[in-house]
Amino acid sequence: MTLVSGWGRFPVVDSEVLRPRSFEAVGEAVVTGSVARGNGRAYGDAAIGSARTIAMTGFDRVRSFDPATGCIRLEAGVLLSDLIATFGPRGFLPFVVPGTRFVSVGGAIAADVHGKNHHGEGGFGRYVDSILLRTGQGKTIEISREQNSDAFFATVGGMGLTGVILEATMRLRSVETGWIRERVISASDLDAAMRALEASCSATYSVAWIDCVARGRDLGRSLIYLGEHARIDELADGDDRFPAGNNPGLAVPIDLPSMTLNRYSIRAFNELYYRMGARRAGGDHVVSLYPYFFPLDSIKDWNRIYGRRGFLQHQCVIPEAGARDVLGDILDRVSKRGDASFLAVLKKLGHGDGLLSFPLPGYTLALDFPVKGDILNFLDEIDRLVVAAGGRLYLAKDARQSRATFEAGYPALSRFNAIRKSLDPAGNIRSKLSQRLFDEV
Ligand SMILES: Cc1cc2nc3c(=O)[nH]c(=O)nc-3n(C[C@H](O)[C@H](O)[C@H](O)COP(=O)(O)OP(=O)(O)OC[C@H]3O[C@@H](n4cnc5c(N)ncnc54)[C@H](O)[C@@H]3O)c2cc1C
Repeated sequence: MTLVSGWGRFPVVDSEVLRPRSFEAVGEAVVTGSVARGNGRAYGDAAIGSARTIAMTGFDRVRSFDPATGCIRLEAGVLLSDLIATFGPRGFLPFVVPGTRFVSVGGAIAADVHGKNHHGEGGFGRYVDSILLRTGQGKTIEISREQNSDAFFATVGGMGLTGVILEATMRLRSVETGWIRERVISASDLDAAMRALEASCSATYSVAWIDCVARGRDLGRSLIYLGEHARIDELADGDDRFPAGNNPGLAVPIDLPSMTLNRYSIRAFNELYYRMGARRAGGDHVVSLYPYFFPLDSIKDWNRIYGRRGFLQHQCVIPEAGARDVLGDILDRVSKRGDASFLAVLKKLGHGDGLLSFPLPGYTLALDFPVKGDILNFLDEIDRLVVAAGGRLYLAKDARQSRATFEAGYPALSRFNAIRKSLDPAGNIRSKLSQRLFDEV
């Protein structure tokens, strides 16, 4: 057995980890209590098998690519970082990227990940045409919107619980360059931030960074980053059409003591960050796609900043109508505690495609907290606000929500469970997350 955790390093649990080398071996690896794992970037317990974890990053081959259509067939363990580095210089990028590029295609489908363009362009699953799935029953099936469509919409966003994704066919976006024309807007409080996000609905990419320790009149003050793919004629003389990656340079070499992060260090960092960002507000700047989409990827192992006990990310989405009041209430409580992360992120989302896809039309807020003190009780209180407003929590970030919170947030759950049962009547596919939230006990 091996000690396994997600990116938040909480919980840490025993699971047997297998690294199959062939699709046949994947089939043999599936026993009761197995789930697939991609690159381990889900924060909590989603990618940990209740008994066995099937590591898929060894399946990293591209099967075919058509430059005329951008259509690509690839194995599930291919990382988006490799896809970008290989196909970016040829003028193709994934339509949707999350806040780190170190995720696998299988993990991106299973969480139906959203990017800064979800409000206008939807999630990762929208650009997936078909999936080769190994079910818990031992069948290998091709699923798509037309063929086995129930299984398709349960697998997109299904957190690995319908089976192991072996391969996928998806579309890439054609781009002229690997640069982004960025505009920064500074917003003095939450109302201004929400107005700015609303007013920039037509921007391809938009995201707000919130200073979650700001209080009083400054509550919710934010920097909003809008982005468009830059054309060749917008690049500075001498810029390559495709920029070099921001390979992790700086590394966090040890687990920092948990007192390193306290209300004073966070307040000081946020103040500096906000002021520096506000200075760039106004005009357009052309920036590399790497810092625009993946700012944290340049710091290796940044999850160690939170110390050995790990950290929790709380990511909720609140339907548009009630969002202002609930977000204000959450931020007020968070700013009074003073120990939430440097980076709190606010984004607008649109409709999700899969039965368990996280997005719904409204606002999503993501906050990091070190695991200490009364944090679990505090987050339970926040959950009650989210549920009362008709919102939900993101499974890919979750390590602790209750079954009641989960069931209230996902109305298509019973349909999902019926499809899962038909694909895996013996219930072989089980993760720590499914034990906590889905499976009969
Ligand atoms: C810094 C950071 C920023 C992030 N930003 C965002 C963001 O902006 N938007 C967003 O949506 N998410 C975001 N995430 C979360 C991340 O994109 C998802 O958790 C994604 O699923 C991780 O992919 P992975 O390959 O690491 O999968 P893992 O973490 O290994 O697994 C995630 C889930 O996918 C399943 N899975 C993985 N591979 C397969 C497979 N081959 N077959 C079936 N199921 C599989 C697992 O069982 C598990 O349920 C972020 C994470 C980090 C660390």
